[in-house]
Amino acid sequence: MHNRTRMVVASFLVKDLHLEWQLGERFFREHLVDYDVASNAHGWQWTAGCGTDASPYYRVFNPIEQGKRFDENGDYVRKYVPELAHLNGIEIHEPWSVLDGYLKDYPQQIVNHAVERIESLARLEEIKMAKKEFTGK
Ligand SMILES: Cc1cc2nc3c(=O)[nH]c(=O)nc-3n(C[C@H](O)[C@H](O)[C@H](O)COP(=O)(O)OP(=O)(O)OC[C@H]3O[C@@H](n4cnc5c(N)ncnc54)[C@H](O)[C@@H]3O)c2cc1C
Repeated sequence: MHNRTRMVVASFLVKDLHLEWQLGERFFREHLVDYDVASNAHGWQWTAGCGTDASPYYRVFNPIEQGKRFDENGDYVRKYVPELAHLNGIEIHEPWSVLDGYLKDYPQQIVNHAVERIESLARLEEIKMAKKEFTGK
């Protein structure tokens, strides 16, 4: 699994689905052919914004824009998601936006990224406020 997709998947789990990074760390631990205890934990914490030298928490990967930027023609998606192979390079990253997007039983969209991004940033603000109340700074 390419590093780019690892970062996008990790960001989606933590910042779109608001689930603990440890769940993803465990799934990768059980499935990655190149699993490494340090690189995996640090990769998840980096993306979740909570590790040493982590990416800023407010950095939320947009899975759709990442797909359009790094898989312009949709070849990567077409290889691993045959249910979307009938769509062109733009449509394939947003199947919900086209009439035949779900033609081949691709699962329905479960979250709206724009909405969950705002929710994620609001949770960050909550944590910062709580920390301020607790530490006075
Ligand atoms: C959420 C997440 C989980 C990850 N889990 C692992 C893991 O379990 N095992 C693992 O080896 N890497 C992990 N990485 C780091 C990185 O994704 C992989 O090392 C890289 O994708 C492996 O592909 P490659 O061998 O083609 O790397 P190449 O780009 O060819 O790099 C060659 C080698 O350099 C090292 N390397 C490259 N990028 C990184 C990096 N970001 N961090 C640490 N080492 C790196 C690896 O040993 C890799 O084999 C993770 C990254 C993220 C974001």
